[in-house]
Amino acid sequence: MNELRKIPSVDWLLQTAEVRDLLQEYGAPLAVSAVRDCLDRYRVKLKKDQSAFDLSAYFGMVKEELEGISRYNLKPVINATGVILHTNLGRAVLSDEAQDRLARVSKAYSSLEYDLETGTRGSRSVHADRMLCELTGAEASLVVNNNAAAVLLALTVLAKGKRVIISRGQLVEIGGGFRVPEVMKVSGAKLVEVGTTNRVRLEDYAEELQNGASVVMRAHPSNFKITGFTEQPELKALVELTHENSAYFIDDIGSGALINTVPFGLSEEPLVQESVQAGADIVCFSGDKLLGGPQAGILVGKKELIARLKKHPLARAIRADKLCLAGLEATLRHYLKGEAVEKIPIWRMISLSAEEIRLRVTRWQQALGTGEVAAEYSTIGGGSLPGEILPTYVLVITVKQPVKALAKLRQNNPPIIGRVKDDRLFFDARTVLESEDQQLLDGIRKIT
Ligand SMILES: *Cc1c(COP(=O)(O)O)cnc(C)c1O
Repeated sequence: MNELRKIPSVDWLLQTAEVRDLLQEYGAPLAVSAVRDCLDRYRVKLKKDQSAFDLSAYFGMVKEELEGISRYNLKPVINATGVILHTNLGRAVLSDEAQDRLARVSKAYSSLEYDLETGTRGSRSVHADRMLCELTGAEASLVVNNNAAAVLLALTVLAKGKRVIISRGQLVEIGGGFRVPEVMKVSGAKLVEVGTTNRVRLEDYAEELQNGASVVMRAHPSNFKITGFTEQPELKALVELTHENSAYFIDDIGSGALINTVPFGLSEEPLVQESVQAGADIVCFSGDKLLGGPQAGILVGKKELIARLKKHPLARAIRADKLCLAGLEATLRHYLKGEAVEKIPIWRMISLSAEEIRLRVTRWQQALGTGEVAAEYSTIGGGSLPGEILPTYVLVITVKQPVKALAKLRQNNPPIIGRVKDDRLFFDARTVLESEDQQLLDGIRKIT
C-alpha cells in the first residue's frame, strides 16, 4: 500500500519534460488523456504486483499508448490477391496524373464552384462534364458520390410514385447491400417485374408499358452470370419500345466501361457509349470500377432530364467532393488522349500478359531464393465481369502454418494481402504495383 503513495499526480506528470514533449508531438487532448489512462492502468498493476512506481516504465507506457492510438487506421496495403477491383481494398488505384491533380486541388483553394471567366458563382458539375459528354456521346452529365446514389437519384426524380419495369433476371444484389428492389422502394418507385429469371421478351415489357409504366430500368447483373437457356431483347429495340410508350429508360450498367473489354481476353462488358447510342435517357455507372478513377457515381443522358436531377434536393445530399472531381477529370483525360490502357493502373493490370507476369514472379523468386512460380488466374472483381479470369503467374510459398503467416503479413508495414490455396501462400504479381516489389519481398522474408 505504501508504494501507491509514491505515484505522482497528473499535474506533476504534465510538467515533466517527457510529457511536455509528448504534448507537443501528439497534441494536448490526446496526450493528456493518455497520461490519465496510463496512470490508472499503472496504478492497478502496482497494486497487483506490489512493485514500486517506475517513472521511466510509466513514460514508456504512455508513449506506446500514443503511438498505438495515432497509427493510421486507413492505410495503403499491398494487394497480392490478383483481384484487380478488390472492393474491400479500395477498388481502383488512381493514375499518377489523377493522384497529382488530387494533391494540387487539395493543397490550395480551387475553382470548385467559381466561374473564373465571370468571377461569379459557378457549378461543380461543369468540371468533368465536357469530357464525359465527349467520351460517351451524351448531352449532359452529373457526378455524385457513388453509383448506388446515382441510381437512387434517377429513380427518385423520374419514378417516384410511378411504375418501373425491370426484368426478374436483373433484380440483383451488388456487394455492400445494394439491392435493386430495395433501392426502388427507397426511391418511392413501384416495382413491376417482368419475364423470368433467365428469359424476358420485348412483349413482356410491351404489356406492362401499355398498363401505364413510366420507366423501364435495366440493371447490369454485374457479379453473376446466367448462362444456358436465356433471352433478352436487344437494347435498342427495348429503348425504342419504351419511348413509343412515352416512358423513360434508365440503364444502370454498373461498371462503366469506356473501352471494349474483349481484346483483353475478357467477355463483353456493356459500354457507356453503346447505351447512350441506343437512346437510354439516363445511364448510371461507377467511377471506381472499370473506369479506373475515384469513387463516384456518374449519370449521363438527356439534357432536360439531367437538369431535373441536378435540381432535386437529393442531388445536393449526394454530391461529389472536390477530390473526387479532381481525380475524375484526370482519369477521363487519359481516355480522351487515348492513353487509358497505359496510364490507368487497373487497365495496365488487365492488359499485362501472363508472360510479363511470369518474368516478374521469377525475379521475385530469385531475389528470395525460395518459392515456386506457378500458373494461376487473376480475376476482375468489384462486381465487374463475373466469372472472368485472366491467366497469370503467382509466387507460391510453402510454410508450416499458412493461415498464421497470412495473418502476420497483414500486420506488416505496409500490410500484405495474399491468399492461401491448398495450404500454401499465393502471391499474384498482377495486382502488386511495381513500386511495391521491395516491400513485398521484405515482408515475405519475415515469414519464411
Ligand atoms: C457496383 C454497382 C452498383 C453500385 O455502385 P457503387 O459505385 O459501388 O455505389 C450499382 N449497380 C450496379 C449494376 C453495379 O454493378
